[in-house]
Amino acid sequence: MTELAQVPVTALKGVGEALAEKLARVGLENLQDVLFHLPLRYQDRTRITPIGALRPGQDAVVEGVVAGADVVMGRRRSLLVRLQDGSGTLSLRFFHFSQAQKDGLKRGTALRCYGEVRPGATGLEIYHPEYRAQQGDESAPVEQTLTPIYPTTEGLTQQRLRQLSEQALGRLGPHSLPDWLPAEMIAQYQLGPLADALRTLHRPPPNTDLDALAEGQHWAQQRLVFEELLTHQLSLQRLRETLRAQRAPVLPPAQTLPARFIANLGFQPTGAQRRVGQEIAYDLSQPEPMLRLVQGDVGAGKTVVAALAALQALEAGYQVALMAPTEILAEQHFLNFSRWLAPLGIEVAWLAGKLKGKARAAALEQIAGGTPMVVGTHALFQDEVQFKRLALVIIDEQHRFGVQQRLALRNKGIDGRLSPHQLIMTATPIPRTLAMSAYADLDTSILDELPPGRTPVNTLVIADSRRLEVVERVRIACREGRQAYWVCTLIEESEELTCQAAETSYEELSAALGELRVGLIHGRMKPAEKAAVMDEFKRGELQLLVATTVIEVGVDVPNASLMIIENPERLGLAQLHQLRGRVGRGSAASHCVLLYHAPLSQLGRERLGIMRETCDGFVIAEKDLELRGPGEMLGTRQTGLLQFKVADLMRDAELLPAVRDAAQELLARWPERVSPLLQRWLRHGQQYGQV
Ligand code: ADP
Ligand code: MG
Repeated sequence: MTELAQVPVTALKGVGEALAEKLARVGLENLQDVLFHLPLRYQDRTRITPIGALRPGQDAVVEGVVAGADVVMGRRRSLLVRLQDGSGTLSLRFFHFSQAQKDGLKRGTALRCYGEVRPGATGLEIYHPEYRAQQGDESAPVEQTLTPIYPTTEGLTQQRLRQLSEQALGRLGPHSLPDWLPAEMIAQYQLGPLADALRTLHRPPPNTDLDALAEGQHWAQQRLVFEELLTHQLSLQRLRETLRAQRAPVLPPAQTLPARFIANLGFQPTGAQRRVGQEIAYDLSQPEPMLRLVQGDVGAGKTVVAALAALQALEAGYQVALMAPTEILAEQHFLNFSRWLAPLGIEVAWLAGKLKGKARAAALEQIAGGTPMVVGTHALFQDEVQFKRLALVIIDEQHRFGVQQRLALRNKGIDGRLSPHQLIMTATPIPRTLAMSAYADLDTSILDELPPGRTPVNTLVIADSRRLEVVERVRIACREGRQAYWVCTLIEESEELTCQAAETSYEELSAALGELRVGLIHGRMKPAEKAAVMDEFKRGELQLLVATTVIEVGVDVPNASLMIIENPERLGLAQLHQLRGRVGRGSAASHCVLLYHAPLSQLGRERLGIMRETCDGFVIAEKDLELRGPGEMLGTRQTGLLQFKVADLMRDAELLPAVRDAAQELLARWPERVSPLLQRWLRHGQQYGQV
């Protein structure tokens, strides 16, 4: 029997070219795909509920006879059909209906209908039920299994998807759909048989525990969850192997530059910075590409670590590229590196998306000509950017970049032969559970020590009805010689409106605090203007800085000990944590006021509560993950990295250690099973190992 993975959907009854095209849109190309296209949820149409036993909120199949059908004029005109079955009366309400429909619902018609029961003007009602008139006296049989509801796309009905899965299930057998998990492993992890799991999930018998299904805890789901997580793990391991199999330039430990750099720095690296620096230095001296993630909380001093790594490549005569996700952060790095490297006689080039025309051409020429240090945004990764001797790529704030982007880097290496080493730095601590699966291809270093002299920030959550009090607080702090930030958050994703709001706040605060020197900085200002304002603030000439979240990263003014964040409920926890990290850098006790706009949602309250309770980036990240889910947190929604079919990283986290062991075992003992698993579970673009 042919394997279902080899049978195209067009082999099914009723599937022509047009339908096949629609199916391809949801990733269904062959019969195996159809079987792994699993229902999102289920309806129970296996029994008929007497009208008298209906409860609001219930989805139910009801049978009865039409006692009357009238068009009624409420707030909206509707057709109201009263249905009786001897145990009670139920109303079916249609806001959209045709004359033919109305005629078909005459008094005395026997109906079976299905829908959600809700309390209405006439007692219990179902809006727009699915219904069918019963022929003769005999009522049609009810469904034999729970009814699956599949993920779908425009123009593809549930009924159609059910027909297709029905046909595919009919061809399901041990040879047509091999179980790639070895019997030994199935026994060890107590997994059920694959074919049974699929049959159960497409057509659950009437007694199936619906709650278990809804929670993803049913054995049939868990069997597939295990296989899916395992496959995901395998693909990351493959990716890792592919990358490691490449050659990278060997960079011997630097002899002179680091010492000169540190001598000019004005402070000594912390123990953690030295330790992580050594881990990196070792990797760079190896002939395979480094793939290392440095996690360190906001303010831990990752930039110094990046500079130490860069110096090793620079001393060996190679090029280094440093990429940041936003222009303001990239700018900050450009300024820092220019300042640090100038005394060492090393040139720094700049490239960002906004750089156009002649300036851009000049930058591209510089980079191609071999300018040793290059700083910029993701514009650095565009095809037109050619490096001469690129040996190390440093990516700041990894959580916004996907695996695909990391892969694209390979092509930037030397003569297409040597791949650059990769150093990835993130301030968003990756919860352990996620790190294990999303970053299985990276080694990790942890910068777990803050530079000396940092003080914990006291966080207050205050409603904006008390804004005046907060303004007074700013006055007092500044009078005592401190400096403060007033941060305006993003308005509905419009930078324009956000900048306007900052301007309004700036004017109000300047008026209210006439004796203070107040400055304004936002994303619409020219780089030179921003730099000038930042400089004044750094020198202490400005006491209060009104800003948009452009100050999220990279800004460092130890004397600033108070931060007000307007509408903090608009920001993610990681971003709030980043912002707050701008204070607490000096010796004075620091405060952060979260000035929210009431009323807060339940979720909003919980989130701000977390900010008040802890300054620990790891705790915040764990909570953020819990509240928002991993896709959003890692910014990988679009890349599809964490789009699982059945698995849910939070829910199934406890399986991960076993999954990791199983992946290793499978790779070692049954390597030939890896490819078929990848093919089964991952869409083509997701098969990292084969990109
Ligand atoms: P992050 O890890 O958030 O990127 P930065 O690299 O921006 O942190 O460093 C934050 C601030 O701490 C910078 O002003 C930096 O100069 C300073 N810093 C870094 N390392 C040390 C150190 N060992 N001692 C004192 N200050 C340090
Ligand atoms: Mg940083």
